[in-house]
Amino acid sequence: MPELPDLVHIVKTLGPAVEGRRISHSTVKNPIVLRVLVPGDFPDLVAGKTIVSLLRHGPFLKFNLGDLDLVMHLMLAGRLRLSGPGERALAATAFSFELEEGLSLHYGDEKSMGKVYLGPAGSFEAIPGYLTQGIDVTSPAFTFEAFNELILKKRCQARVFIMDQTCLSAIGNAYADEILFEAKIHPKAPCYSLGPDRRRALYDAVKSVLTWGIEEVAKAGLPLEDKARDHMRVRGRAGENCPRCGQTIRRTGVLGFDSFFCPSCQPDLTGRGLDWTKLSRK
Ligand SMILES: [Zn+2]
Repeated sequence: MPELPDLVHIVKTLGPAVEGRRISHSTVKNPIVLRVLVPGDFPDLVAGKTIVSLLRHGPFLKFNLGDLDLVMHLMLAGRLRLSGPGERALAATAFSFELEEGLSLHYGDEKSMGKVYLGPAGSFEAIPGYLTQGIDVTSPAFTFEAFNELILKKRCQARVFIMDQTCLSAIGNAYADEILFEAKIHPKAPCYSLGPDRRRALYDAVKSVLTWGIEEVAKAGLPLEDKARDHMRVRGRAGENCPRCGQTIRRTGVLGFDSFFCPSCQPDLTGRGLDWTKLSRK
């Protein structure tokens, strides 16, 4: 699943390449991902339109096409590719735009779980989750005061809180684990158990880990459709050694999602959980 740093990278690299370009033709191969919110057929509606801008709103990518907005929620497997003349499309291309000068923009989705909405510009009521996004954690609105106000109202586990899109916008599974590792907070620690110092550590970690993630994704410079994950310190690393203390990284379930953490750097201070540090490595 593309996460916030991946989407920042897409906007930064794809935006300048497509902004100002006209869509001469569109081909739809898998309409399951499409939600057309205005009368007409998708290819007819977009043909002749110019891509005015590409912006990110939480986990959504918004292409403004003048009087229409094309809004993408990539979900688990949605991917984008910009190809030049003669270059291939994606494996599971759902639709493509032919732009000028031989460029094509492809949307592929092997699981057909992503959603692509085409509707009137500036009208997002029909897009689930668009208008209910919480604070964008890369924006100046994400202050410690605003964060503190949100977390003090919550009784859920820390990992559930930072992934609640209506509080903090667009933190996914991978960066949630990295943020908790940086803040040295157990993924199941209840929000109410975190004192002022640990709340501050969690806030600082959200900022620093996402800034680091954005830099690492840019540095990796992978094609748009690939996700840079090699820089992850705990995510996907169960059984490996913690880069900070050497303890074995573990995997646990939080509300049905896999969570990776270091039991020694991120101890369970409630005294109710398993003492992972006393278990064998396997
Ligand atoms: Zn550790």
